[in-house]
Amino acid sequence: MKTSLRCYDYHTKSRVSLKAHEFSEYVFSRYQARVRAGAILIDAAVTRAAQIGRYEVRLAPWRTRGGNDISFGIMSADIYQPHTSDNCPFCDDQVLDRQAIAVIEAGRQQYYLMANYKPVGPEHMMLVKGKDSPNGDLAQIIHSPEELLALFDLQYLFPREFSFYFNSSPGGETASGASLDHWHWQMFRLGEAFKRLVPVPLWVGPDAARSVPGWPAQHRIFSPDQPTSARQLFKYAHVLHAANNAYNVFRGQLADGAGLTALFPRWRGTPVTEFMGHPAYPCHGVDSLVGLFGSETSQASFDLMQQHPFAAEQVLTRRLTEITQPPDVMRWLDVAYRQR
Ligand SMILES: [Zn+2]
Repeated sequence: MKTSLRCYDYHTKSRVSLKAHEFSEYVFSRYQARVRAGAILIDAAVTRAAQIGRYEVRLAPWRTRGGNDISFGIMSADIYQPHTSDNCPFCDDQVLDRQAIAVIEAGRQQYYLMANYKPVGPEHMMLVKGKDSPNGDLAQIIHSPEELLALFDLQYLFPREFSFYFNSSPGGETASGASLDHWHWQMFRLGEAFKRLVPVPLWVGPDAARSVPGWPAQHRIFSPDQPTSARQLFKYAHVLHAANNAYNVFRGQLADGAGLTALFPRWRGTPVTEFMGHPAYPCHGVDSLVGLFGSETSQASFDLMQQHPFAAEQVLTRRLTEITQPPDVMRWLDVAYRQR
């Protein structure tokens, strides 16, 4: 483990001493134990995936809304409620007992590593701020650079393709796909689709928000240096908080091991998408923005996309562009960022 992080067994509360290279094996074996115990709704092994041009589309019908389960993965603005400990699954001891894998401590902050109840794919986990954490402001926004640095340290303990995603909900604004206003990151593997979408190398300067040419979504990326990146992301998020503008954050590792931090300010007015008359890929969370689609894609639209991959890729690309802020707003945000 990084010296900045400590790991505890969730159920026994006992400290688990792990070397850095032992950490991910421990976590994944604990995750599989949760799967065997029935802690996730559907075994991720039954998910279907298709390559549509540059994008990977997954059919995950158990994530559709309208079920009576209050748990994670039902991501839609129409179920958003202000956070209370009574309505929040991350504050529910029964849910934690079922899905928690480990407790991670960073400084005085405490996080639960949890299995996602409705996974978008294999090994879909979450990092959730502990409800009783000493410094626990639980709101689903980026609170501080220190919080991000702990997260970056944690990510380096996982395999390189295991990426972290944040769907913000400032002031209850849910355009990012967040439905729960309790601090949490999504974590899962994103391999080939991400590599196809994001060209490397992409670092062009150490101290400025940049874009990646060819990435259809409007976004900004930050310095590969961890402390600088954490500071820059926090500052930009602050600009967005002031406007109650939802955003997504992607944190991944490139092939050379450098960290990639990308921020996507979301546009509120995104219409519902159809593909040839069937509901498809609402593009909720940041997983959509980095090339993985379809958590609510219907069987019919999934089949149609496979039959018409060229048209489907065009729709996906258009969708990626229109769910984030248009270029003129991004320039305005850049100005506000530099003035802070
Ligand atoms: Zn909560």
